[in-house]
Parts: sequence; structure tokens; C-alpha cells
Amino acid sequence: MTELQSGYGASPGIAIGHALRIEHNLTEVMEIAIPAEGIEDEISRFRCAVRLARQQLREIRNSIPGTTRADITDFIDTHLLMLEDSMLTLAPVELIRQRHCNAEWALKSQRDDLASVFDEMDDPYLRTRKDDVDHVVKRIMQNLLKQETLDANTINPDFKDSIILSHDLTPAETILLQHQGIAGFVTETGGPLSHTAILARNLGIPAITGCQISRSIQEGDLLIMDGETGQLIQCPTEAVVKDYQKRHRNEQRRRTSLNRLKDEPTITQDGIPISLNANIDRREDVRVARRYRADGIGLYRTEFLFMNRHDIPDEDEQYQHYCAVISSLRGMPLTIRTLDLGADKGAELLNHYTHQSNNPALGLRAIRLCLKHSDLFCAQLRAILRASAKGKVRLMIPMLSNDKELTAVLQMIEQVKDSLLASKIPFDDNIPIGGMIEVPAAALSSSLFARHLDFLSIGTNDLIQYTLAIDRMDDEVTYLYDPVHPSVLRLIQMTIDAGKSSDVPVSMCGEMASDTRYTRLLLGMGLADFSVPPSVLLEVKDVITNTDISKLDKIIPALLSCDNSADIKTHLKKISEL
Ligand code: PEP
Ligand code: MG
Repeated sequence: MTELQSGYGASPGIAIGHALRIEHNLTEVMEIAIPAEGIEDEISRFRCAVRLARQQLREIRNSIPGTTRADITDFIDTHLLMLEDSMLTLAPVELIRQRHCNAEWALKSQRDDLASVFDEMDDPYLRTRKDDVDHVVKRIMQNLLKQETLDANTINPDFKDSIILSHDLTPAETILLQHQGIAGFVTETGGPLSHTAILARNLGIPAITGCQISRSIQEGDLLIMDGETGQLIQCPTEAVVKDYQKRHRNEQRRRTSLNRLKDEPTITQDGIPISLNANIDRREDVRVARRYRADGIGLYRTEFLFMNRHDIPDEDEQYQHYCAVISSLRGMPLTIRTLDLGADKGAELLNHYTHQSNNPALGLRAIRLCLKHSDLFCAQLRAILRASAKGKVRLMIPMLSNDKELTAVLQMIEQVKDSLLASKIPFDDNIPIGGMIEVPAAALSSSLFARHLDFLSIGTNDLIQYTLAIDRMDDEVTYLYDPVHPSVLRLIQMTIDAGKSSDVPVSMCGEMASDTRYTRLLLGMGLADFSVPPSVLLEVKDVITNTDISKLDKIIPALLSCDNSADIKTHLKKISEL
């Protein structure tokens, strides 16, 4: 029977595919009492899962090309060794015997014990070994639960064209899933502004977040998901499938028709040129940005280079990577944002640098993390500066909030420049340095940042999160997310005005810039530089080229003076009808 569930439309697009569940939340493992006569079977089930894990890792090890870096193979060897260690193989067996519990529970208990030992270690390197334990435990657990393993090196045909259902997904896992060719995904947690959702939009994967996925959905059930409306349809009738196939075709036709704009200049009806740039997370995204003729890359989130791995990319690796992005851009300018790790953009290696925080969005994140760990930051700055000799590069700092950070960052950049000069390593001495305005304090002090920096970029995702006190990750408060809240609009206007007073360009690279409901409003507020996910470039261009900014002159001040959302919505409607 057809059933309908709904969540937040996190990444638009219709997907029709079979359900595939990924459960990897260890906290969901429950203790189940096993009767005495079932103990030996439970132990043998555990041993089979360990044997299978060994076999899987050996297969991966053998499939790695000889040219692969030694540290990647070393890391698989480490996991293979762990699978021989009695801590992970014998201790859970003992627990099953003593407690008469299920294998999953025994494994999880042993993992928790080991984790607390690692947590107490002072040596940051040894502390990261906890991640290795987790990886090995996860693999055994997946085998116990007979789940598919998600792996960067292997393509699992079961994933192809399926709709993934999961409690949550990290951005790192989302990249792996795209590699597997999934049709879309639905998660129970997360709002449309989580980095996983943004990544899905950048990758063009339909996604729904914050959806209570019904337990009645069986593996392999046919599902339809609409990433725009957030609707998930279980076991649709043939007529419903046909209807959605038609909608999907129409949507694709509409998008194709926008291709006519590709080679048109981005100029408003009254002749004002607007800069339209793309946000990218990975080198592969450059292709789409070029296809839709972005003016440049307004935000390159470098943290993705640090995910799905156990080591930190060193200066040379980063340099090679940035050079590769520059060369794919063929002359288009590239804004490289320094590391914004932390909060929901975790990486396995992050445990080197931070402790668990109760409030990660307010914790050691982005520039705060980089300033605390200057070795990490300097290596990235050197790599970016060296790459600046190869093309048009701008350097952008995330999450600035005060003058001390600003001074410290600028000093560090100067030091890195001096050391490059001393070693006669080429770089662009005039590289523009910009800052993101993502914290209300930064927006309120935007004139300070405008005086000391070459450009500003408004990160509305965080600016809205911090202004309205709503966790981007928490679907319970997503209903409060409102880009046109009067306070948010005032902070945006202040930043645009501060840029104008100091003659410093201001762009917007948060998701608000890509939401066509707000394009005219932003143009009317004086924004002349948008940076959006490559897949929506033409949609935004369509609105820009159909807008006459001079007609907005009266309505924008009226809208900005409103203090309630109903009036703002009325004005927005009027603007859209102009
Ligand atoms: C933002 O906060 O708007 C932004 C672009 O940064 P991120 O989404 O990567 O936090
Ligand atoms: Mg941000």
C-alpha cells in the first residue's frame, strides 16, 4: 500500500529507486539476552563477522594499485592487525559467554571500554588510534547486521540507483555515496542547512532530511522521493510512478531550456553587471561550474580534502591539489577558503586537534582551530600562496569574529610570505585576502573587516544559525530558519554598506544567494556578487537578467523597515511580481 512521509526538501530533484538502509549509529545497538543454548551460535556469528571483515580488508588491500601511497596501504594493514588482536576478537566472545548478550552488544561494550582508555591518553597520535578501533568495529558490526559496507575503493552494485535511508549521514559519507551512484538519500536527522544537505545540492543528489523514516519500509521497497517538497512515497502505485516520471522529465526539460542563458552576460534589465560565481567542494565540481559559465569560484571549501582519510594532507599534497583545481579552471579566478573543520564538518583526523565539545558549532571551529594549531594553518597558507603563482587566486578566511583574530591571521600570512620570499619560492604578493561574515559580531563590525581586507563574503548559513540561535544540524528547530528575518536582513545590509563605504567588494556565498525567492531582494539591497552551487547558476542568472533594479528603489527600504515576517513576505511577493 502506498504510504507518504515527509521531511525537509534538502536538495531538489525527483528520485525513483529501491530502498537501501544504512545503519551505522553504534548508539542504536541494543542489548538482547541470549538463552544459554544459543550462546555458541552467537559466538560463531561473531567469529564469522570477524572472518568476513578480514577477508574484505584483504580484498581491498589486493585491489589497491601498486602506485598508491604507502600510508593508505599501511592503514589497511593496521586494521588487519587489529582484527588479529584479542582485545577485539576474544574479549567480546568472553562477554557473550559471561553476560549471555548478543554479539553486537558485546562488541559495542568492548569498543566503549577501549575508547575510554584511548581518551585518557595524552599523546594526540595515540588518541587517534581510537578512530582505527572504530573503523574496525564498524566493519565487524556491519557484517553482524549484514549491512552493506561503504568503501571508497569498491563500487557496490547494490548502491547504484538506490534510495539510501539512514539515521544520519556525514558529509564524508555523502561523497562516498555519490561515488556509488545512488539516486538520492533520506535521513532522519539534519536540517536543509547542514553541510550534508549543502553538499547534496552541490553534487546534484536529491535529498530529504529530518524525516521520520517508517520502520515498515523494507529493504528493496520501491520509493519515490521529491527533494523539493521533502516527500517520500513508499510502494507507489504504477500511476503515481508514471506521474513522478513525467514530473521528472518536465523538470529536466525546464533545466535544459535554461541552457540558453549560458553564454549570455549576467546583466540586469537596467544594465548593471552582476558577478555570478560557483561554490565548490571538490575539484570535480569545477566541471559543472565551467559548463554553466560561472565567472569564477567564489567559495572553495578546502575541508573536503581533509575528509575520508586518516592522515593530514601535507603542504605539498595541498599545493598539488590547489594547482590541479587552478588548471581545471582554465583562467577563472579561484577563492580558496582556509580550513573550516569542526561542527558538522568533522573529519577523522580532527580528533588530533579537538576534544568533544557539547556545543561544537560554538566551539573550536574554522579559523579558531587554525589559529590554535598554527602548524596546520601555516602548511595550508604556504600551499595556497605557492599555488597563487599559478593562477588567479584569492584567499578567504572563515568565521572571523574579532579584531584579534584578524590581526593574527594577517600577521601569519605576512610571516608565511616572508619565509617563501627567503626561500625564493614564487607566489602572488598581491593575493587578495578576504574574510567571511558569518558571525553576527562580524557583521556588526563589518566596517573593521572592510578596512583591513580586500573583500568580504557573507556566509548566510552560519550568519542565520548564529543570529537566530538555531543549530543548522537540528531538524527540530529548522522551522525557525528564516533568511528574511528582520535581524538577518539588517546584518546583511550593514555588511553590504560597510563594503561600499570602504570600496571593498562584498559577495554572498551562503545558500541564501542561491534561493531565487531572494535574488531580487539581494540585488535591491546592493549585492552585486553571488556565489552559488554550480547546479543552480542558471536559475539565479535567469532571475538576475529579468530584474530591473531601478524598479526596486522604493519597495526595498519599505521591506527593510518591516519588523514582522508577514509584512516582509507581502513585500517579497510584490517584488517577485514586478
Ligand atoms: C556559510 O556559512 O554560509 C558558508 C558558506 O559556509 P559553510 O556553509 O561552509 O559553513
Ligand atoms: Mg559557514
